[in-house]
Amino acid sequence: MGRILRSREQLKLLGDYLIMCRSGPSRANPAGPGSRSADPCVPQIADGVFETFLQSLLQFASHHVYSCDLCTQRGFICQICNSSSIIFPFEFDTTTRCSECKTVFHRDCHARAPSCPRCERRQRYQRRLEAGTEPSL
Ligand SMILES: [Zn+2]
Ligand SMILES: [Zn+2]
Ligand SMILES: [Zn+2]
Repeated sequence: MGRILRSREQLKLLGDYLIMCRSGPSRANPAGPGSRSADPCVPQIADGVFETFLQSLLQFASHHVYSCDLCTQRGFICQICNSSSIIFPFEFDTTTRCSECKTVFHRDCHARAPSCPRCERRQRYQRRLEAGTEPSL
C-alpha cells in the first residue's frame, strides 16, 4: 500500500510538470474530460493491476519530463552541492524537499547540510531588513 501511495504522490508532482508544459502531449491527462471511451473492462481494479497502471503512467510522464526542454528547465539544481545535474521533486529515491521553501536537494546533501541554504539566506536577508529599519540617527 505504501508503494502505491508513493507512486500517486510522484504522479501528482509529475502531473504539475505536464500540465504547465506548453508542448506537453495532450494525452498526458488520461482522466481528462475528453476521454472518448470509458473503458468498460475496468469495473474493479486489483491493487496489483492498479500499481502496474500507475507505474506505466509514471514511466510515460517521467520520460517526457526528462526529454522535454521546457520541463527540464523547470527542474532544480541542488544548492548544497551545486552540481549541474538537474533534479526533480518526484525523484523520491534520490532527492528530498525543504519543508519550508520547497526547494529540492539531493537527499544525501540535505542529510549532510546543517540547514537549508535557501532558508538560511532568507533568514539572513530578513535579519538585515529588520536591522536596516531601525532608526539610524
Ligand atoms: Zn514538457
Ligand atoms: Zn547535492
Ligand atoms: Zn528551505
